[in-house]
Amino acid sequence: LKDEVNRMERLSLVGQMAASITHEIRNPMAVIRGFVQLLNERSSPEQQSYFRIVMDELDRANAIINDFLSLAQNRIVEKEPCQLNDLLSELKPLLWADANMRGQSIDMKLSDEMDLLLMNIKEIKQLLLNLARNGMEAMNDKGVLKIETRNMRDMVQLRIEDEGVGIAPEKLERLFEPFYTTKAKGTGLGLALCLSIVERHNGKINVESTPGIGTVFIVDFCKPGRNCW
Ligand code: ADP
Ligand code: MG
Repeated sequence: LKDEVNRMERLSLVGQMAASITHEIRNPMAVIRGFVQLLNERSSPEQQSYFRIVMDELDRANAIINDFLSLAQNRIVEKEPCQLNDLLSELKPLLWADANMRGQSIDMKLSDEMDLLLMNIKEIKQLLLNLARNGMEAMNDKGVLKIETRNMRDMVQLRIEDEGVGIAPEKLERLFEPFYTTKAKGTGLGLALCLSIVERHNGKINVESTPGIGTVFIVDFCKPGRNCW
């Protein structure tokens, strides 16, 4: 319990600091981005290749700031009753476009019956997008991402399964650590954020993976009023 209290105190301090630092960093970065873009209009082809690098790195820094802010603002979020299936249906165009661009496809199987959960829609959508994008990033083109929901007795289950590179057993326990990434342009904050979102929704997240075959992330949400764990 003491560890849990310490953790909460740390998180709220981090949250307050993050909010102000983020604001102070975002503004100058926006200015830099604007002027670099202006400079580029008069640049040589060689300089233009540098320009791409500057822009990519600025975008990466921005992504880290945005992810970090969502992670650090571990605030008490407003929740409303809704169906996980509906959120997935709303994300469908976005997910399909993302998969198409990579030459991949998505196989979505939503359970017929679906009980209501109390959810913060913005957070759950972010969770779904993060898990789906990780799956796509792990696969080559032609890969199929399977997204499935199951309405169980006390829980609603979400499964996001890819045919990607997989994860070595010794790396599994590090996945949810902030800033753990194996990608050149990763932030390593996606899964840390997913974990904190799931915890705020009375859920559990698990991962099963076979290197070379693929990975499945399983999220169990406890239905309101049930005793799941
Ligand atoms: P990022 O995507 O920015 O690297 P994440 O927190 O989303 O950060 O993921 C952390 C790491 O976990 C990834 O860099 C990758 O090594 C591993 N990972 C996450 N999802 C998958 C997946 N579906 N298949 C294989 N590896 C994954
Ligand atoms: Mg990610």
